[in-house]
Amino acid sequence: MTDPRELTLIRELLDELFPIARSLSGAGNRATLDRLASVIPLKTHEIPCGTEVFDWIVPEEWRIRGGWIATANGERIVDFDENNLHVVGYSIPVNHRLLFSELEPKLHWLPEMPHAIPYRTTYYNKDWGFCVTQEQYQKLRGSTEPLEVVIDSELDASGSLTIGELLIPGRKDDEILVSTYICHPSMANDNLSGVIATTLLAKSIIDSGQPSHTWRFLFVPETIGPIAYVSNNPDIVDRTLGGLVITCCGGPGKLGYKKTFKGNHLVDRAIELAFRDFKIDPERYPFCPTGSDERQYSSPGIRIPVATICKDKYHEYAQYHTSEDNLDFVTPEQIGEALKVYREVQMILDSNTKIASTVKGGEPRLGARGLYPSTGGSNKQPGVTNRSRDALEYDLDAMMWVLFLADGDHDLVDIAETTGVAYSDIAIISNRLEESGLIVRV
Ligand code: ZN
Repeated sequence: MTDPRELTLIRELLDELFPIARSLSGAGNRATLDRLASVIPLKTHEIPCGTEVFDWIVPEEWRIRGGWIATANGERIVDFDENNLHVVGYSIPVNHRLLFSELEPKLHWLPEMPHAIPYRTTYYNKDWGFCVTQEQYQKLRGSTEPLEVVIDSELDASGSLTIGELLIPGRKDDEILVSTYICHPSMANDNLSGVIATTLLAKSIIDSGQPSHTWRFLFVPETIGPIAYVSNNPDIVDRTLGGLVITCCGGPGKLGYKKTFKGNHLVDRAIELAFRDFKIDPERYPFCPTGSDERQYSSPGIRIPVATICKDKYHEYAQYHTSEDNLDFVTPEQIGEALKVYREVQMILDSNTKIASTVKGGEPRLGARGLYPSTGGSNKQPGVTNRSRDALEYDLDAMMWVLFLADGDHDLVDIAETTGVAYSDIAIISNRLEESGLIVRV
């Protein structure tokens, strides 16, 4: 159950950010980052258009002010002001009078979803187009007079690409990367849900004091954003142990996750433990080199193992990349469910450590340290534990496992996997044994 104040904040962010026209670049992305900067101390970087980044070139900045298709008597049948999905992203400016037959090749619509507007872009091919509902399509088709077709846009080579970044320094220098993409206009699951979950994950790390690892949060346009960032900051590669791409995590469907390219990396194992401990059976998607920005972070030359926890993953729901991926589809509670798993994974990654016993042979004397149950004869089932600190005194089985595996080779994730005891309980027991001087972190 997500904190009601947090649900209110998610609601506000959904309502405020949903209408903004975002793209690879432009004012909508800056406005989005500005709003997020009121929640977390985001910094923004501008990368000039034309900058060469690995095999790519940062494209011109797109400015979109409006766009419509109107009949001869001025009735606007399609209007960007009604829904920003109507204009194909990165459309060049247009001002024409066209017969329907001339306009038709520039229209995108979905025969199988009559009320939906599709989402289309033309980032790297100078073109234009409109996305319409079936009803609008039929109306345009019925007009015999030339139609007024206007896209009030601009592609500016002197502009820039905007990236949001937040670095939360930890006690260790090695880093964990969390990346989300800010380039989608009015669609809620893909990817406003990811933008909001990322922001709130960062906020909770900040609120709970200095983390163990250094956490780097990136808010980037998809594909070109990670490529531009890593190209400009190649030194992050060696010190980043793994990461998460947060996308499509607010739908009504089942929770799932896409594995890292390694499949059993610490990030994968932390996600499996989080789901196990929450008694959630997720959809599991193997890594593949298609999808979102895990493609870039996992690519040769970068190779950061990155996973995605999702709730209605991209491509897996009917509303994907349409106007029906809206605020009816995504709710604060659903984002809260995914966020809870992300936070558990963050806690696991941040607290995991190898441990070693300080006793050189044989079992330590627990009783001498007040760690042995004073009444004795516990009949507790192995693997069943209780988060209350007092009860843990009696969870002798779990404690014995932690002590048994404290050989400097095993970490807390190994121990949680081996014993079936909740990771958070293993962490509490481990802290207790550390306070008693029986184990040390390696
Ligand atoms: Zn998308």
